[in-house]
Amino acid sequence: MIDKKHNAYWIETYGCQMNIAESNALELSLIEHGISKAKRGEEADCVIINTCSVRKTAENRIWGRIGFYKHLKEDHDLTLIITGCMAERLHDEIIEMAPAVDHVIGTNDKYRIAAILSGASDERKEEYTFTHNYHKMGDISSFVPIMNGCNNFCSYCIVPYVRGREISRSVTSIIEEVKRLEDLGVKEITLLGQNVNSYNYTENGILYQFPDILDKVVREATQVKWIRFESPHPKDFSPDLISLIAKEEKLPHHLHIPLQSGSTKILTAMRRKYTRDSFLALISDITRAIPDMTYTTDVMVGFPGETEDDFNETLSVINEVKFIEAFMYYFNPREGTKAVEMSHQVPIAIRMERLNRLIENQRALTKEHKLKRCNDTVELLVEGKAKKNKEHYLGRSEHNEMIVFEPKKPLQNGEVVTVALSGLVGNTYKGTLI
Ligand code: SF4
Repeated sequence: MIDKKHNAYWIETYGCQMNIAESNALELSLIEHGISKAKRGEEADCVIINTCSVRKTAENRIWGRIGFYKHLKEDHDLTLIITGCMAERLHDEIIEMAPAVDHVIGTNDKYRIAAILSGASDERKEEYTFTHNYHKMGDISSFVPIMNGCNNFCSYCIVPYVRGREISRSVTSIIEEVKRLEDLGVKEITLLGQNVNSYNYTENGILYQFPDILDKVVREATQVKWIRFESPHPKDFSPDLISLIAKEEKLPHHLHIPLQSGSTKILTAMRRKYTRDSFLALISDITRAIPDMTYTTDVMVGFPGETEDDFNETLSVINEVKFIEAFMYYFNPREGTKAVEMSHQVPIAIRMERLNRLIENQRALTKEHKLKRCNDTVELLVEGKAKKNKEHYLGRSEHNEMIVFEPKKPLQNGEVVTVALSGLVGNTYKGTLI
């Protein structure tokens, strides 16, 4: 039990969108408990590090941050809290190896932190608790977590071991949050879950699956421009979901859908529960119903047992789908997952070499797509002033593209405008307001 009152907090967040959303919720509950935000870590009297455990590199970084705050504590009265997936996975190790850490709080227990730091009563809850607020004040976009956890146990993934089994959030709670965000002027909502399209909740005797809750959010969020969702799993992408996206204007024609590998042999070893052919069939079903759909994805190379032929199968799927962007990484053995024990581990040099070829290939695809897009006219949501040139504005398109453009008049965040694309500034489009 921490027995002193705290005045100023500082949060460091690592990892996925779910962690970002939960840090936003934590920030608001700290403010509700009378603790204000410090300008930087050195000026705070409580620091919370919201950690990620998806790869060893992510955890190594946290040990570095703990070291930094350990030194700061030598001449600075500071409470240090470690939370998130690494806290869940390495709870005892952190307590043993880092005495500078005052509290280690598991990823599903973040709701307790504000009470602990403000001396309020610290009530533990059995189940994962969806709080009511994941919005960063002033942003025109907001995450709305609708699920937590995952039941898939892909053989390389730590998430099911640190976030637990899938829990879906109540329909009432989701709609309340969406309506409140609408009142706050939010124009873009992203429904979040590690496996968002396996949402499953019964309320008043009615079963809501993902297309049902998405449809309800579309109906209720009358002032919101776009409703996105992340991350869908290819195995749970139903024909109902495709037809809903095809008919609803609020559902952007852009999808982030993880592929991971283009080889059915490797997908099976990953326990992804779909094949190369079923993935390609899904993409062609979606593209037939929504011809202007654009796709981004996640791809892993160097999974145990991956041969040059398997790698080439991955490249061929990528070139067939023509993803406009991709998150690409090589296999990282993760303690506690099945894949770490697998035979035929691929040497790091080969994993890195394949990753470089994958990146080169994707760079060419992305460039080809972007050059083809120049001279298009796009509708976008104004997100604010451009970083480099405050005369210009930054906006996001339906296809999740960032555009820097010259205004003809002052604009408000959240306004919908039309811009003529005229080229690229590095990886960002540039354009002129029409
Ligand atoms: S679907 Fe697989 S990769 Fe995604 S969170 Fe679940 S176990 Fe991890």
